[in-house]
Amino acid sequence: MLDIVRIPVLSDNYVWLVHEPACGETMVVDPAVAAPVLAEAEARGWRIGQIWNTHWHPDHTGGNQAIKAATGCVVTAPAAEAARIPTLDRAVGEGDIVRLGTVEAKVLEVPAHTAGHIAFHFAGEDVIFVGDTLFAMGCGRLFEGSADQMYSNLQRLAQLPTQTEVYCAHEYTASNGRFALTVEPGNRALVERMTAVEAARRAGQATIPTTIGLERDTNPFMRASSVETFAERRLGKDNFRG
Ligand code: ZN
Ligand code: FE
Repeated sequence: MLDIVRIPVLSDNYVWLVHEPACGETMVVDPAVAAPVLAEAEARGWRIGQIWNTHWHPDHTGGNQAIKAATGCVVTAPAAEAARIPTLDRAVGEGDIVRLGTVEAKVLEVPAHTAGHIAFHFAGEDVIFVGDTLFAMGCGRLFEGSADQMYSNLQRLAQLPTQTEVYCAHEYTASNGRFALTVEPGNRALVERMTAVEAARRAGQATIPTTIGLERDTNPFMRASSVETFAERRLGKDNFRG
């Protein structure tokens, strides 16, 4: 139902180009930069009509202005971060519906990495764009929010159907997995996943998207049984070198 194209940019960002074939509408999630995104759309004969931002950080919005200038697209971004995203056209928050052609996504507010961070959930497609909130075996750093907030975000995301494909904004998987193994060395699903991840990375392959099911089984932040345990793990990862 959706064609989703991964565009690797900067050192480890993924920009997601999303095309709805029935109407031929195209949007881009978190364009860190413009040129590779415009080139990819052009190569596919797709016209970018929208940008959706999950949060204000420059590695998620840096391409907004140039893509908007080149295409006249409409920028949808978190209402709570409107002042920090000057290219914003439509401000959205919890429960708002955003549309790409015939399909719709619901906005979830997931504050913690930034104060107004949002995610876009295409429930009918089993797809969610999570920005820097949830990563494969990891989660975002707490720059503008609390451990309480991030823990409840992850608990909420864990309730989504297991088959939900999770599109994260960074390839942090191998490093996250090495930390996860220090937390749960006896978790067989984690050990198996890391073997596959190391092989994929050696072969130069991406490990994103992940799924909610995989994260439930292997993500030490989502699997924390209390906010205290979560906070301890988050601090551990902040100081982890490996
Ligand atoms: Zn960020
Ligand atoms: Fe980021």
